[in-house]
Amino acid sequence: MSMASVNPATGQTVKTFDENTDEQIDAAIGRARAAFLALRQTTFAQRAGWMTAAADLLEREIDDVARMMTTEMGKTLAAAKAEVTKCASGCRFYAANAERFLADEPADAAAVNATRAFTRYQPIGPVLAVMPWNFPLWQVIRFAAPALMAGNTGLLKHASNVPDTAVYLGELFTRAGFPAGAFETLLIDSKQVERVLSDPRVRAATLTGSERAGRSVAEIAGRELKKTVLELGGSDPFVVMPSADLDRAAEVATTARCQNNGQSCIAAKRFIVHTDVYDAFAEKFVAHMSALRVGDPMAGGTDVGPLATAQGREDVEKQVRDAVDRGARVLCGGTRPDAPGWFYPPTVVADLTPQMRMWSEEVFGPVAGLFRVSSYEEAVELANATAFGLGSNAWTREPAEQERFAVDLDAGAVFINGMTTSYPQLPFGGVKNSGYGRELSAWGIREFCNIKTVWLGEGAASAGTAHSE
Ligand code: NAP
Repeated sequence: MSMASVNPATGQTVKTFDENTDEQIDAAIGRARAAFLALRQTTFAQRAGWMTAAADLLEREIDDVARMMTTEMGKTLAAAKAEVTKCASGCRFYAANAERFLADEPADAAAVNATRAFTRYQPIGPVLAVMPWNFPLWQVIRFAAPALMAGNTGLLKHASNVPDTAVYLGELFTRAGFPAGAFETLLIDSKQVERVLSDPRVRAATLTGSERAGRSVAEIAGRELKKTVLELGGSDPFVVMPSADLDRAAEVATTARCQNNGQSCIAAKRFIVHTDVYDAFAEKFVAHMSALRVGDPMAGGTDVGPLATAQGREDVEKQVRDAVDRGARVLCGGTRPDAPGWFYPPTVVADLTPQMRMWSEEVFGPVAGLFRVSSYEEAVELANATAFGLGSNAWTREPAEQERFAVDLDAGAVFINGMTTSYPQLPFGGVKNSGYGRELSAWGIREFCNIKTVWLGEGAASAGTAHSE
């Protein structure tokens, strides 16, 4: 079987790759296990040196890596470069902070009848990472950097449409100095995930992707009693209240919806606007959305490139058509261009009703749903009326309202007067069908650790003071 890297701007196949055989998969798991046994003996300082070298490689190779991503999944070259830079800083962040995040945490020894008691964080072994194509480098690095710094090893099953980036990532960390097998790519179909996750040498899994894939991996992991972290879909609300800075809100709304050609889990997808400012906001938003330049993602000045797959564009088209057939209004966009490549224009759809798919489904493309509400309560009710709970945005200059939104929005993140973004310094993850567990920050690095209680009584030998693994 083979896997292909297909350019979404042209529909042309650029490269093909052979999928791994069962023997190759088995050998890779063996190397991941052996590398874990070696890596757990290394110090934070050694691992930080290698992680910093990985950041250096990314920065040195930024032009080639960015072109590779743009070629196989269609994000603009500028966005691809920004992603490489973000990855390098993610690596540096964990190189600098992992030891502090995983330092022993003393407890009140007297309260637990000990002479000393503390929590120690230890790595657990090889972790399977099932990753999506939309941020093909960042989604992987945000798992790999903390995992490797904790002393775990990783096996990457990347999305089938980004094999070139997958192969690059599978070599990056050993090129940077990590032991062979510390982080490897498996070129496998999603049907083979069960085989890998069922292997006793693989200790846990993280998946970023759709709800469907998340349920499937969680089911296998449940049977195997292995921990999972799931980062799934989202249909983030973007609430605009009467006191909002409408110019800024409309500008950010456009970026929040169309960044990465509209294919981001934390893209704002449902724009919920107070009736007092609905018309003014809609006019500004539609003007910005219509002004975006759609075209060759390699060309400077392009804002929106093609969708990553033909299927992805078809899904978006069908959702819009369904809404229109049931009475929604298209305020801009809504028709695919008659040209090669999987392009779809920035689109705003108003007058949505619960009978329409766009009301409840995630739209993974540059299409915004616009909703009118007449009170704070109605805004929150609609914002939370989704099976998802990843990010959320609210725009208001009223301090009391800002506080209320921070509490009332049912999501893993609330951003007030700004765009939902992931930062290495802040935890990232969702509630409800957007998944569970957290990536990034101290929370992320501890997800795949054995959080071990160490209790010492009278006469116990010292358990050391510093965590060296
Ligand atoms: P997808 O189909 O779920 O693919 C994601 C990964 O899961 C790919 O590696 C895919 O492999 C694999 N996969 C698919 N079905 C599987 C199964 N039954 N068992 C095991 N692995 C399976 O996701 P997508 O539709 O391409 O990506 C978009 C979705 O990801 C959206 O819902 C988006 O919101 C979500 N996402 C979430 C986050 C987050 O951080 N929460 C970030 C980015 C994207 P193949 O390619 O081989 O099928």
